[in-house]
Amino acid sequence: MLALPLILGLMVGSFLNVVIHRLPKGESLVFPGSRCPACQTPIRPWDNIPLVSFALLRGRCRTCRHAISWRYPLVEGLTGILFALTVAQFGVTLQTAFLLALLGGLVAIAFIDLDHQIIPNAITLPGIPLGLVAGVFFGEPPLLERVIGALAGAGFLYLVLLYGGAVYGQDAMGEGDLNLIALVGAFLGWKGVVVTILLGCLSGSAVGLVLIGLRRLHRREHIPFGPFLVFGALVAMFWGDALVEWYLRFLR
Ligand SMILES: [Zn+2]
Repeated sequence: MLALPLILGLMVGSFLNVVIHRLPKGESLVFPGSRCPACQTPIRPWDNIPLVSFALLRGRCRTCRHAISWRYPLVEGLTGILFALTVAQFGVTLQTAFLLALLGGLVAIAFIDLDHQIIPNAITLPGIPLGLVAGVFFGEPPLLERVIGALAGAGFLYLVLLYGGAVYGQDAMGEGDLNLIALVGAFLGWKGVVVTILLGCLSGSAVGLVLIGLRRLHRREHIPFGPFLVFGALVAMFWGDALVEWYLRFLR
């Protein structure tokens, strides 16, 4: 049953690799077809099968034997697993299709931010009305919770980043981060936003401290926040309700 969403996810992941590679450079996502970054030889369809081709070619270009980045199979495999998990949890419904669209956007945003320290508006801004439309149709979470999530989330994150900038004396502010949290709010509502910001800050700080400890990161260096917000949003999407429930019971 889950083989189909897994395969769909692998194929979408393969396309996301193109998006991650080309969108920040303003290149077309369709033309020309994929080429080897080293020797520019067009990649034939049978050498472009997600995961399978990477394994058969042992991670090297067929023509020039240049190593293919492990990021390509990673993005494909990650998207495949996330698609299968989503269908397993939410079933085969139209609402699931909206969540798969959100997933694709989040995966692309995480890796583009990692590479270029930008979160493209071309993904976040069309995504916000899409999430609100899903609220009109499905009502779970309700439209009002989504609007509050988008507005309050962006507003709250603005204050967090303003505070972070004041404390650490660096420009932590990213308009892209605010658009990303508005996107998360439009799909997951304000509860999802709370979980996302909390886990994003916790995981970002933890990884930052470890990198500083390992002397891999200078104290004033900027690490992109987007991947950590995406991590928080994924947890919120799958386990957000359970986490909020658990916390409210914990308070009582
Ligand atoms: Zn090559």
